[in-house]
Amino acid sequence: MTYPEWSHPASLRRGFLCAVILFLACAGARVPVSAEETGPGEAEKPPVRTLCDTCTAELAAEREPGSFEAPKACAICSRENLDPKFEEVICQSCAATEVQCRRCLLSLGWPEHLDKIEPVTDRIYFVSSRDGEDELFRMAPDGMDVQQLTRNENSDAEPAVSRDGRWVAFVSFRGQKRDLFIIDVHGKHERRLTNSEAIEGAPSWFPDNKKIATTVCTDLGGGNKEPPRGLSVIQRDGQGLTELKADAPLVSCWNPSVSPDGSTIVFAHFKKKGDPEEILKRSGSGAIAKLAPGRDHYTPRYNSDGSKIVFASTRDKNYEIYIMNADGSRHRRMTKNDFHDSMPCWSPDGTKVAFVRIIGDGNQDIFVMNVADYKKSNVTNDPMVDTMPCWR
Ligand SMILES: [Zn+2]
Ligand SMILES: [Zn+2]
Repeated sequence: MTYPEWSHPASLRRGFLCAVILFLACAGARVPVSAEETGPGEAEKPPVRTLCDTCTAELAAEREPGSFEAPKACAICSRENLDPKFEEVICQSCAATEVQCRRCLLSLGWPEHLDKIEPVTDRIYFVSSRDGEDELFRMAPDGMDVQQLTRNENSDAEPAVSRDGRWVAFVSFRGQKRDLFIIDVHGKHERRLTNSEAIEGAPSWFPDNKKIATTVCTDLGGGNKEPPRGLSVIQRDGQGLTELKADAPLVSCWNPSVSPDGSTIVFAHFKKKGDPEEILKRSGSGAIAKLAPGRDHYTPRYNSDGSKIVFASTRDKNYEIYIMNADGSRHRRMTKNDFHDSMPCWSPDGTKVAFVRIIGDGNQDIFVMNVADYKKSNVTNDPMVDTMPCWR
């Protein structure tokens, strides 16, 4: 059984035109064939796709009728009576306007209105389990004005905000899949960038606000073997996923951070499970340089002028926050305690660093620290986990 795409007005018009042509031809009349003769405004636009290839194929497979329970209403316009035959999440007309799959929200283009999102500045975006599932939130740097951005039954993780303050890229676990999504900073216009078996992770925006660096694991392997994980780049409309080649053999790449000028990417890397993680820098040509070899170093993040990198390291046997110059020189430790301090990121002006502290019982909270005097304050104080900050 197959489910064809719904008829679009343009194809209805085409169908009507064909019928007229057939009628006129049969009647022996002269048939207008050129575009000019069809009159102004009649030029055909290609129909807007509203189902992606993956969903079309999945819907064509035999399945139990009624096994899908359609949501009560379109997630965009709240229109009811979504079509369960298409397993719709949003309605047909919203899918056409947003240019995305109405079943899985995969981006099928980039409509112009998405460039008119009102930007938001100086907020910390983070993941919290305070509504039961891991969802994306944002707050003012002092922990006030908390707003929830995603509400779904999946785990959302690793938020990364575009440099223009309009979009949040993140990873979401949907069913058995783990894919890249973006949502605007107001929690609207959710768009799926990938819908594949591969595992994407840790997005980081390029300065043009159009490209996103990510890690991709395609060899899902098995057992204890840590699967290889490459560095890739993808366009914000979901097109052009391309692996970034390197002149050194890379095995497992984690947490890329694109420099403010877009010319380099720093990331954590290890060769096999149990090996110490090192911090590497890839330049545009693919040249790889080691910035912090030796002991375990994680989650490097460039500051906003690209002169410094903040990261976590266990070189003192316990996760602490460090800063180094972007060329790998002058390492400075910024925390020293028995807690597990990790996942640091910079404030937009570079005077502060937000990070995650895991306290004895496993609860995670976000702290903000002055770079000048290392003074720290706890900005989330919630019994549930607050983690993965991104400050923009
Ligand atoms: Zn709708
Ligand atoms: Zn789809």
